[in-house]
Amino acid sequence: MEEKIDAKEVIEEIISAIEKNKSWLSEIDGAIGDGDHGVNMAKGFGMMKDKIGESSGSLSEVLNMAGMTLLSNIGGAMGPIYGTFFMRMGKAVRGKDIIEGNDILNMLEGALEGVKKRGGAEAGDKTLVDALEPAKKAYEDALKDGKAVRDAIDQMIDGAKTGMENTKELVAKKGRSSRLGERSRGTIDAGAASCHIILKALFEPLKKYL
Ligand code: ADP
Ligand code: MG
Repeated sequence: MEEKIDAKEVIEEIISAIEKNKSWLSEIDGAIGDGDHGVNMAKGFGMMKDKIGESSGSLSEVLNMAGMTLLSNIGGAMGPIYGTFFMRMGKAVRGKDIIEGNDILNMLEGALEGVKKRGGAEAGDKTLVDALEPAKKAYEDALKDGKAVRDAIDQMIDGAKTGMENTKELVAKKGRSSRLGERSRGTIDAGAASCHIILKALFEPLKKYL
């Protein structure tokens, strides 16, 4: 189906997913951080509601707008990191009204590279990289196996979920919770949790265009 993507609908999906999970995200951040992750994210995404109307409506423009809004409105560690995540995704689909399997891979690769560069975290450091990297890998593997793009998206979301769950056993090496050392083990990472929520809300609605 080569229908033009309704990018605003996609962003609205993310805004509502973050809103729905706001308390839970703050609760898990509270276990090994300062308990503000859900509030921070909901504030940043809430600001997008007003900005959606200002953008041209292409997927690239809307993702870029999302990134810039997060960059300037989320406090703490997440503003620059999720800002980069969305801006890099927007850059990967610049000028495209229709997207294909490879464009999604470019979005995931761009976001992963940007986040790692910006925050300096690697896989295993107990951050959102631990959801994003397995998500990208699962998607790439599915495409290599010749799976349909829709199935590759499902596999990617499962990869993010497993990655998020696996952060429970990790010791935090970056950000606030790294101060706890060994005591940061035993809870899933809040940023990995929000990353799974975002990937699901962003890519599930895109399946109908593929
Ligand atoms: P803060 O830590 O400033 O209170 P948040 O609570 O909103 O900010 O976000 C915490 C999340 O930020 C962590 O769960 C972790 O996933 C992520 N994070 C922290 N530092 C980094 C980093 N350097 N690179 C990537 N992600 C990071
Ligand atoms: Mg926090």
